[in-house]
Amino acid sequence: MNIAKPAVPPLDPQLIEKFRAIVGAKYAVTDQTDIEPYVTEERDLFHGRSPLVLRPASTAEVAAICKLASEHGIALVPQGGNTGLVGGQTPHNGEVVVSLRRMDKIREVDAPSNTMTCEAGVVLQVAQQRAADADRLFPLSLGAEGSCTIGGNLSTNAGGTAALAYGVAREMALGLEVVLADGRVLNLLSKLKKDNTGYDLRNLFIGAEGTLGIITAATLKLFPKPRAIETAFVGLASPAQALKLLSIAQVEAAGTLTSFELLSEVAVDFSIRHGIDIRDPLEAKHRWYVLMELSSPRDDARDTLETILGKGLDHGIIDDAAIAANLSQRQAFWKLRDEMSAAQKPEGGSIKHDISVPVAAVPDFIAEADAAVVKLIPGARPVPFGHLGDGNLHYNVSQPVGGNAADFLARWHEVNAVVFEIVLRMGGSISAEHGIGVLKRDELPEVKDKVAIALMRQIKAMLDPLGIMNPGKVL
Ligand code: FAD
Repeated sequence: MNIAKPAVPPLDPQLIEKFRAIVGAKYAVTDQTDIEPYVTEERDLFHGRSPLVLRPASTAEVAAICKLASEHGIALVPQGGNTGLVGGQTPHNGEVVVSLRRMDKIREVDAPSNTMTCEAGVVLQVAQQRAADADRLFPLSLGAEGSCTIGGNLSTNAGGTAALAYGVAREMALGLEVVLADGRVLNLLSKLKKDNTGYDLRNLFIGAEGTLGIITAATLKLFPKPRAIETAFVGLASPAQALKLLSIAQVEAAGTLTSFELLSEVAVDFSIRHGIDIRDPLEAKHRWYVLMELSSPRDDARDTLETILGKGLDHGIIDDAAIAANLSQRQAFWKLRDEMSAAQKPEGGSIKHDISVPVAAVPDFIAEADAAVVKLIPGARPVPFGHLGDGNLHYNVSQPVGGNAADFLARWHEVNAVVFEIVLRMGGSISAEHGIGVLKRDELPEVKDKVAIALMRQIKAMLDPLGIMNPGKVL
């Protein structure tokens, strides 16, 4: 779904000078070649245009940018690692991009309080490593963790592969620092678990996709570092069998079951075909796979995993399984999973969905959606994979082999419509973890409670009366 490239709208040179004075000449980017990486995203689904990218280094600089922008009615698009999947970080209409990547300091790790305070531009993997250095765990984990940022993670309320045990990004944030559209700094940085002092403003900005303000820092929750991590790659016949295995795993492993990913055969095939150094961990092919991980504070994870797999085999639920024997095997299992998004690109056009349904409804959802999509576009190839433990699937659909990508992608909303009808009928959500951005903006008012939409619009108008904060996204 390529959004047409708008021309770069001019920006008053005097205003550019004022912005430049805030961040310094080197960090006010106007050269279109240098701007290119900020206006395109990896999958080429969205391409924007911007006359100016600002790269502030401090909260004070972000505040000055917002103040100046509000005085002149200049629209801003906050951006972190530019890994978002719904076009939220792209300046579709010539907005000024505010890249937070230079705000990459970890202000404090407070191990006794189990907190870490990071600036918004800290890369997720760096945050994970700093927590590990302090013998703690920061559990947010996703395929883009080498480039996505804490600010982006919170703004999209990212989920990822460990949400089953630790929750989504929202549940990992204790405090926030936010610059409002008018340049005021809202300091909600707090390490407190208990703080009942009125409305929960922090949660307004988490998941707001940059439409209400710019997150400049966050105080994050840390957890005990697991002593044992055990990972298995399992072959089985159907999503229904995977659901039965999940049930056994949840009983046996309780809170130590950290990931339970369902992978279709076609998704695994694409990863092996297009990824580098990716091998099938199992000898034979299977219709479905589960990537399961246990993380325990004790040394009992291997026994628990073997018990789960033993029960799975005894009950005829699983057909084969491999347990990672060492760290490099564990990383190889995860690489196969993490390459899944990128591996769809060489297969031509891919229509994306990031849906959730009640966990028990996942097998029925897949069966119904597969039938509906193939009926709509004969030869279309559903590529379902995702976080079964959270009821969250990336139900992507690749074009028919040998078909025309543009013709296929032109049917994006038609395919969405048949998939979303099933999702909504099953009590699910059309956006589980990637957000709304521009990709699902037009569908949102149709599927969300009308009063909720009205309140969202009122909140937006109150916090951003001029509409300069990431306009055209979410609402
Ligand atoms: P960006 O892409 O730069 O921005 C995303 C949104 O947040 C935009 O609307 C932007 O305006 C806003 N924003 C960014 N920074 C700020 C800020 N400081 N203040 C206010 N607004 C801001 N997501 C998941 O949830 N789970 C997954 O498992 C997952 N896997 C992924 C795997 C791959 C290979 C890729 C490419 C992406 C994946 N994603 C996943 C999506 C993406 O990585 C997440 O949405 C991530 O949280 C975005 O972070 P970012 O720093 O790249 O944000």
